[in-house]
Amino acid sequence: MSLRPVIQDTAAIFLNGIGRHLHRGQLRVLMFHGLTDCVHEGLENCQYKHLDLNRFESLVIHLAANYDVLSMDEVVECLQTGASLPPFPLVITFDDGFDSNYKLAYPILKRYGLPAIIYLATQFVDEKIPIWVDRVDYAMHRAGRSKQNLVAFKDHLKVRPHAEILAAVSLLEEETGHRLDRVDKPHIQAIYRALNWDQVREMAASDLISFGSHTHSHLIMGRTSADVVRNELTESRAIVERETGRPCHHFCYPNGSTGDFSEVSEQILREMGFRSSITTLGGLNTLPVSPFLLRRLGMTNNLRPKQFEQYLAVGDASLKGIFGRHLFAT
Ligand SMILES: [Zn+2]
Repeated sequence: MSLRPVIQDTAAIFLNGIGRHLHRGQLRVLMFHGLTDCVHEGLENCQYKHLDLNRFESLVIHLAANYDVLSMDEVVECLQTGASLPPFPLVITFDDGFDSNYKLAYPILKRYGLPAIIYLATQFVDEKIPIWVDRVDYAMHRAGRSKQNLVAFKDHLKVRPHAEILAAVSLLEEETGHRLDRVDKPHIQAIYRALNWDQVREMAASDLISFGSHTHSHLIMGRTSADVVRNELTESRAIVERETGRPCHHFCYPNGSTGDFSEVSEQILREMGFRSSITTLGGLNTLPVSPFLLRRLGMTNNLRPKQFEQYLAVGDASLKGIFGRHLFAT
């Protein structure tokens, strides 16, 4: 048995508290997608997009005891007005709109009274049409492909125009003979399922969960014309507002990495009256920070509980994170 995890956990327990205090005042925005209470085989959930339910609950208990968990509205209000945030501000976010947000995450968030925001890809929720990355996961899992093949295929596609991505995914489905065309069929596994509007409305009415836009078709904005970006935002926001009866003024970039957004997309968001946008760029947010370029900590991984706590404290789960620049950064 390797001693590395033991050493890492011991070091994490000792230093997490110190790290958290050294990074006091920095804003942590956590990124989740779905949760799962099943054991998965093959390529199903091989990139940990759906966090184990028990891990999520222990994380929520840790957050409730150690961080000031706020709604996106509260944080953005402070960032815009310059009002001070509490010492350990943190926002919980979920991307896409998976059914498990309601069935598994919401009861736990409600139990501990923690707010969260869910960014809806509205075509996925409204029409039950899967996001292209889930179509790739499904086809490759069913076809018995390797994880390496899966990751390489997705990485190759993410930098292509949206129409080209959809054409390549259709071709993959033809080649493999496995196509995830809708996520509301009885035989489809829970991890692929989308929220329904009754679930969304119930969560919105609780005032604990708010909803933002994640585009309509989960289109990556960096390589898209301004007109298409505007249409995606307009349609997605209109659907969220129609179904929740509440204003939708927070946005989350699909894929959200460098090149997936630009000054143009930020300008469009501002012109349309959005108040914030979040990326998948990693790390903590040192204040003052623009509400239109928020970094996040991806929680879709296989970290052990103490590593999760370290990751939250200093923004890095590695040994380097404990002993390196992150802990001692000013
Ligand atoms: Zn997404």
